[in-house]
Amino acid sequence: MKKEFAVIGLGRFGGSICRTLAEQGVEVMGIDIDEERVDEYSTIASHAVVANTTDEKALKSLGIRNFDHVIVAIGDDIQASILTTIMLKELGVKKVTVKAQNDYHEKVLVKIGADHVVHPERDMGKRIANNIISNSVLDYLELSDEHSIVEIVASEKIHGHSILQLDVRAKYGINIVAIKRQDEIIVSPQANETIYEQDILIVIGADSDINRFERKVLS
Ligand code: ATP
Repeated sequence: MKKEFAVIGLGRFGGSICRTLAEQGVEVMGIDIDEERVDEYSTIASHAVVANTTDEKALKSLGIRNFDHVIVAIGDDIQASILTTIMLKELGVKKVTVKAQNDYHEKVLVKIGADHVVHPERDMGKRIANNIISNSVLDYLELSDEHSIVEIVASEKIHGHSILQLDVRAKYGINIVAIKRQDEIIVSPQANETIYEQDILIVIGADSDINRFERKVLS
């Protein structure tokens, strides 16, 4: 069965989610209190409607309980974000993802039953900081406070070595889950796979182990 998505708040963040879902061929309803924003998305989203989502009647009339996943992308008006989230959960929406504006907002959202809270500015800030401090780290995805998936550029130091020779799993407790080599991507590389300078290694593990690997082998 096809999943149905709704995005509440069509600012830069919600708008980008709405646009990307639509580009992927997913059914998405865009909702905003601002008529101009709704107009902008009328040709992008499957449906775009003007509604104040803090108004329970308005939410109900949209049939919001039938959506599989609703994303609340109201940022500045924390009260509206919280009220909307409470009502979505009360109406029985299975999955509600909410953008938090700050740590307190995040705490409240978790308490009232938001299924997933995102903090795009904070997370992107961390990501950029991590990319800036290391020359070899291209990108980084935080899995938990202590674990990440990191893209690391292979240096000349490990050129021509196989994964087995590097013994990353035993020595560093990390796994190379894929290698990007120009246009090619090798998923779950075998132990005998040779690594070349400029390969992009996609590595999963504890942050401290990844740092050790990066420092010892790559710099
Ligand atoms: P962004 O930070 O994503 O660029 P923004 O700064 O334009 O967003 P925000 O205050 O974060 O604006 O709000 C995002 C969108 O949510 C806006 O388009 C706003 O009109 C909409 N919005 C705010 N309150 C409500 C509400 N009660 N019901 C529906 N939409 C709302």
